[in-house]
Amino acid sequence: MSVQVNRGARLRRASLLLAGLALEGGAIARAAAPPDLIMFHGHVLTVDSQDSIAEAVAVRDGKIIAIGKDREILRLAAAATRRIDLHGRTATPGLIDSHAHIADAGVIELYHVNLSDASSVADVVRRVQAGIAALKPGEWLQGDGWDEGKLAERRYVLASDLDRISPRNPVWLTHTTGHYGVANSAALRLANISAASKDPPAGTIDRDVQGQPTGVLKESAQDAVLALIPPPTAEQQRNGILKSIEDLHREGMTAVKDPSIGQPVWDAYRELLREDKLSVHVCVLWYAGSTLASARTALASILSLPRPPQSLGDGRLLSCGAKIYMDGSGGARTAWLTEEWHKNSTDIDRGNYGYPSTDPQIYRQMVRLFHQAGVHVGTHAVGDRAIDWVVDTYAEVLGETPTLGLRHSIIHANIPSDHAIETMADLEKRYDAAYPEAQAPFIWWIGDTYAGNFGPERSLRLVPLNTFLKNGIRWGGGSDYPVTPIAARYGLWASVERETLKGTYGAHPFGAAESVDVHAALRSYTSWGARQLFLEDRIGSIEVGKEADIAVWDRDMYTIPAQELHNLKCTMTLLHGRVVFDSSRESGNGR
Ligand SMILES: [Zn+2]
Repeated sequence: MSVQVNRGARLRRASLLLAGLALEGGAIARAAAPPDLIMFHGHVLTVDSQDSIAEAVAVRDGKIIAIGKDREILRLAAAATRRIDLHGRTATPGLIDSHAHIADAGVIELYHVNLSDASSVADVVRRVQAGIAALKPGEWLQGDGWDEGKLAERRYVLASDLDRISPRNPVWLTHTTGHYGVANSAALRLANISAASKDPPAGTIDRDVQGQPTGVLKESAQDAVLALIPPPTAEQQRNGILKSIEDLHREGMTAVKDPSIGQPVWDAYRELLREDKLSVHVCVLWYAGSTLASARTALASILSLPRPPQSLGDGRLLSCGAKIYMDGSGGARTAWLTEEWHKNSTDIDRGNYGYPSTDPQIYRQMVRLFHQAGVHVGTHAVGDRAIDWVVDTYAEVLGETPTLGLRHSIIHANIPSDHAIETMADLEKRYDAAYPEAQAPFIWWIGDTYAGNFGPERSLRLVPLNTFLKNGIRWGGGSDYPVTPIAARYGLWASVERETLKGTYGAHPFGAAESVDVHAALRSYTSWGARQLFLEDRIGSIEVGKEADIAVWDRDMYTIPAQELHNLKCTMTLLHGRVVFDSSRESGNGR
């Protein structure tokens, strides 16, 4: 592969030659403007349109100025150029997560009881008890990350499990999907939830055979409890974001789309940007609620800010658009389906088709409102019926007001129908819109719960990446962190291997037909992801003119066995040419 030099650099080289004839040595050096950083002896997976592989990269002022063979690139070095010998290691573009709640998840990580690796109900109870020991009577205990699919008893955690150890503290434990949780009886009392309570619209109060609430609250039924819990302080919000940034850097990740934020999170991002501590690219979606009034409020915030690809902090912070929920979750069996939900794989959950979380007609008006204002919309849609409604809505508003490049997305797009797949392919081609932002790691981390709920037939269609590929549909990869762990390497691996965590219904209830190879998987976490963050001109590939966001790995993801992808180790991460993580240093955050 020959050396690529951008036009600016080529002009500067010409001036170097001219200057060399007429000027002294010092002037030559200034005119040449050599790279300030060279990474060499590497295996550089550029993820350019050719999927080219290079040996070395030269960087100046945070941007890539040349890529090529070692001798070509090293020749550009001056005395002051920093050289990083990759010792044959593999470099990729910094990985991009198109859907991760890094602000919320960082707060959870730092301040809530972690239940994500709890192995039994007793284990959950023990952890909650230890947490309560540090609280005053009356203070809320919050825990996060439990999943019945990972618990030995394979059932929900219930209020009755918690009441004995928490008589004087209200407890709220959010399921890993965030679409349901369990309250203890103290919390249910504070929220006025009793046997007499009716299910709220688009919500479910789970009940036992006597009709008593079990403590499990799904979708909008959670709101009565959530409204009572004090929100994180500004300090906690900030610390949460900083924690997530550190975790992203450790995993070779340099950009993220944070969906569903409100003013306090935006303020925290802006403050960190002002302090030059926002060392990732963040594109946010404003939570638009489920009414026209709430959509108008979100729109007002969006219209007061620069629109992508305009940004704050030179590509660091983008107010990307609005987030709407069309339905619920494959964990809670609340996502909106054309056929009934299953239970335990083959049992039918009679009469349960899930439900829309926003009134479908109102949803359509909300999308129209944003679309006509030229604002990007990301819609959460898991079930086939919800996805159909979303893509048909996108087709309708795009037909009414054809606009290129708004890139409206289908967040999750778990089991799209054939109709939805055709529509996505068509809208991507015609309008640069209707992109899935898909989470391959669902298959793994919540795959045992999912396989039981979707049932054997439908499961084969879950996250159909190969069908996307065959239809020319590009998608953004993501974790939905904290729904699944933050590291993108899990998503690379799950895109190829499609294996569940525990194998409750066999290791591969989702089949292998929808697997893609690591090349497509990496693209979904780099160049395709960049597109969904409106940053494709800046990041997502290692090409001349792009920002030097680069991850270095212990092994070559293109040649190791695919089963090994989730064990990749990031050894170094650069953002804008600056080392933000170096595994050889004691501290993880290279600041
Ligand atoms: Zn999410």
